[in-house]
Amino acid sequence: MEKKAANKYNDPSYFRGQVETYLTNILHTDLKNATPANMYQAIAQLINRELGEMRLAYNDKRKSVQKSTDKTKKVYYICMEFLMGQSLKNNLYNLGQQAMAEDLLREIHMDPQVLYDQEPDAGLGNGGLGRLAACFMDALTTQGYDATGYSLCYEYGLFRQKIVDGWQVEFPDNWLPGGRVWLNPREEDTFEVNFYGDYHEYWENGQLKYTLTDPQTVEAVPYDLFISGSGTTAVNKLRLWSARSSGSFDMNAFNSGDFTKAAQRTNSAEMITKVLYPADNIPEGKELRLKQQYLMVSASCQNIVRDQLHLYGTLDNFHKKTAIHINDTHPALVVPELMRIFMDDYGMGWEKAWEIVSNTVSYTNHTVLAEALEKWNSSLVQSMMPRIYGILQEIDRRFRIQAFSRFPGDSGKVDYMAVLQDREVRMANLSVIGSHKVNGVSKLHSQILKDDVFHDFYLATPEKFTNVTNGIAYRRWLCQANPELASLLDDCIGSAYRLDSSQLKLFAAYRSDVGVQEEVEKIKRNNKVRLSNFIGQQWGSAPDPDSIFIVQAKRLHEYKRQLLNVLRIISRYQAIKADPNIDMRPETYIFGAKAAPSYYHAKFIIQLINKLADEINSDPAVSDKLRVVFLENYSVSIAEKLMPATEVSEQISLAGKEASGTGNMKMMINGGITIGTLDGANVEIREAVGPDNIFIFGMTADEVRDCLHRGYDSSKIYSSDPVLKAAVDSLDRGFGGVSFSNIKEYLLKPTYSIADPYMCLMDFKDYCRAHDELAAAYEDRQRWNSMSIENIAYADRFSADRSIRNYADMIWDTRPVLPNPSMK
Ligand SMILES: *Cc1c(COP(=O)(O)O)cnc(C)c1O
Repeated sequence: MEKKAANKYNDPSYFRGQVETYLTNILHTDLKNATPANMYQAIAQLINRELGEMRLAYNDKRKSVQKSTDKTKKVYYICMEFLMGQSLKNNLYNLGQQAMAEDLLREIHMDPQVLYDQEPDAGLGNGGLGRLAACFMDALTTQGYDATGYSLCYEYGLFRQKIVDGWQVEFPDNWLPGGRVWLNPREEDTFEVNFYGDYHEYWENGQLKYTLTDPQTVEAVPYDLFISGSGTTAVNKLRLWSARSSGSFDMNAFNSGDFTKAAQRTNSAEMITKVLYPADNIPEGKELRLKQQYLMVSASCQNIVRDQLHLYGTLDNFHKKTAIHINDTHPALVVPELMRIFMDDYGMGWEKAWEIVSNTVSYTNHTVLAEALEKWNSSLVQSMMPRIYGILQEIDRRFRIQAFSRFPGDSGKVDYMAVLQDREVRMANLSVIGSHKVNGVSKLHSQILKDDVFHDFYLATPEKFTNVTNGIAYRRWLCQANPELASLLDDCIGSAYRLDSSQLKLFAAYRSDVGVQEEVEKIKRNNKVRLSNFIGQQWGSAPDPDSIFIVQAKRLHEYKRQLLNVLRIISRYQAIKADPNIDMRPETYIFGAKAAPSYYHAKFIIQLINKLADEINSDPAVSDKLRVVFLENYSVSIAEKLMPATEVSEQISLAGKEASGTGNMKMMINGGITIGTLDGANVEIREAVGPDNIFIFGMTADEVRDCLHRGYDSSKIYSSDPVLKAAVDSLDRGFGGVSFSNIKEYLLKPTYSIADPYMCLMDFKDYCRAHDELAAAYEDRQRWNSMSIENIAYADRFSADRSIRNYADMIWDTRPVLPNPSMK
């Protein structure tokens, strides 16, 4: 059941007529001869036009609400990454036009899925962080909040991954040819951003003034992507900035005959938004990356201030009408940039500007990994953004005075909390100091921020710190990705859950209903068959749908411990070799993972997975019991095929390291059962489903800390566990003809700090124990299916709708401008 918005596009004959007109006039074809690519283009441009018309109508509505009440704010969500994936099916679903469009396709004998797969993913993000931002845009719009997302229009998104002889090779992701249909250029909203230049400060009449001469000016040109919501006429937008040289040629150089130099300037400006940095949770201290950040921040801040002045004609109520959220520290320069605009462009004094800015900005932290906390070389910041650096110095100076009075005599503590220290700009400290609220993304993670990462800030300003557990756009991840399950839910609990996730809980009442259990099992099997066919088509060999599908799909990172999974698969392999008649249900281990191109250790683990897969899958003695699949190029659209087919969800990070996870939630809501550590949102998944409906193993975050404190010696564990030892030792000989002694050394020999830094060996035994219990539970089909039902039902709290309500209530202090009539 889809909600209908009343407009002419809902009329099948109008819809069809518009598609036909586009096919004839623009693509010079017709319904009879149109290819799937033609039909994608024709329908997508129509939906984009419809959204544009809806946006126009919504604009009047939201502006008049904003001006008539002090209870609502405009929310600006700024993030370097939005991992949007495909848009067509999602927009059709949200607009209630999916059935109408699919009827038209069936009429011309076109498979809707083939049409949807014409669309390239908008892969403008690395993984969890960017996907969260995308899920939040859906939740903001569906619930009728007045919100705009800001990011960059990367010409190339996250690289396309190919596996060549087991090794990850990166190819450019040229998404724009197919993705451009959703991008609406807004040339007239172009802003200029200044880099470098000669900066001088001087005193005049007791005031500090400055001059900036000869900056390199770059234009930020906006491309707007409309964001639809479900069951609403609200349309928000994601504004993506594209860099362009301000003067297309340096005329001096051109006139003096140096054409190459004249063109260089154009090239270097346009390089800024050429490509997304493919680093996830690892440092990438490149000059171009900093330029990207400032381009996004400066253009967005200028745009926000202009919006405010258009609507209210004053900046005095800025923080009362505007909430600016920085997702991770990458946009942290909004703090000095807004200060710059308020002071330099509008003549505001420091104290007033600071009061407004720090009450406008809020910050979400996404990582506790020390190496991933962003820091920039001071001289780089100073030369690239001299005025911003001057403001950072003043923020730092004033902060240090305050901090000294809070921690008298403790200069070590003050240095640790400061913005500028050791010739570096610390973006996390800047974000905390410049924000009125700071949140982590799961209960455990938010607690670790208070206890550890930001402990001193917490002591000084405890009221700043809060938690908002992540959530997912479950209309995409459940209703659209798994229509059979969604329709079973409609039958059992009604369709209200599609807009009110709390209704999902009603499904728990069916845990012991044998009919529903069997239905859930049948749907899972259908989804496994679909995935298996897809794998067979793409990579040639389809896994057995009657084997158990065990899935670990996420970025490849040491802390996520794909290696722990691999070690156990090796031990399974060895057990089968040792006892060919072993009584077991066939197991299929499915991985999806991209590694940052410069992260060599991660790439070796990808190679290990692929070589192990080659060996196991081609060994007739084991291949009917054990199979390993590596899904190339893990992405949103592949995740949408994978989640509904997942039976076992591997969430096995070292406790204390995964901030939340959202892959865990996507698998859970599709009935997958989690095997995991007490890390990130797994803790809350366990709370939601109860300890009988999840398989928890390994050390807690506290135990990890104690263990490291006492001194962790992986070689002791290795020598005392013969099963583990055999698995680790097999790395020397290796798999598929490649030795992985380097990984064995990593596990046993101190490389830079300690051996096995993420403690795979420590948790190995308990991990195996948990898997054995899981395998037994799987054999009791009634038990397993009822676990599955409870996981689906109690995933209600992991809706992005709920996350956004938490942000709105606790952090932004705002309400919907157009409440969704079907939501509580
Ligand atoms: C959800 C998602 C992620 C995040 O997965 P985690 O398991 O939370 O790390 C990464 N990549 C894609 C494509 C996703 O859809």
